[in-house]
Formats: sequence, C-alpha cells, structure tokens
Amino acid sequence: MAKKKLKVDPEHEAQVRAVGHTCRGPLPDEDRAEVNNLLAAGDTVEAQKVDKAGRAGCGYDFNETILSNPLDGEEHDYECPRCGVTGVYRAPLFE
Ligand SMILES: [Zn+2]
Repeated sequence: MAKKKLKVDPEHEAQVRAVGHTCRGPLPDEDRAEVNNLLAAGDTVEAQKVDKAGRAGCGYDFNETILSNPLDGEEHDYECPRCGVTGVYRAPLFE
C-alpha cells in the first residue's frame, strides 16, 4: 500500500527533530530471553542494562518514521527500514 506523503507543519517538524531519536537495533533472542526473565523477576534496572548492552545499534533516524505518520498522539506500529526492528511508539501531538 503506497503511503501518502503527509504535510507536516515545519514548526512541528522542527520540534520533532529537536529531539534525537535513533533506532537502537535488534535485540538478539538470548538477550531478549534474559531481559524477559529479569522483568519477570521485577529487576527493571538490570533488564535495561542487558537490553542496552545486547543491541548492536542501528542508528537509523527514527524521526523520519515519526514524521511520515500522523502527529496525532496515538500509538503507531513501526518497522525500521534499515534493520527491520518492529515495535510501537506513541506519536507526539500538537494542538
Ligand atoms: Zn534499525
């Protein structure tokens, strides 16, 4: 399905781009399992450490994804065009 190019208010675009959002890359399965175990045990601090250490870092500018979707304050699915990581993010909302 071809995506329509959305018209973004230049001021809103500048506000989105003022904050750096880069893709952190995929998390290997063994690290994901450890993170899930730590989360299940309630150790969110250690889980974040393992998550951070396990990712290779992709570096794709995630703002491109944010700006290609409506800035509506809603949750959107995404897939990184560089590394294929998928997830959900909440779009910023401008009044
Ligand atoms: Zn990526």
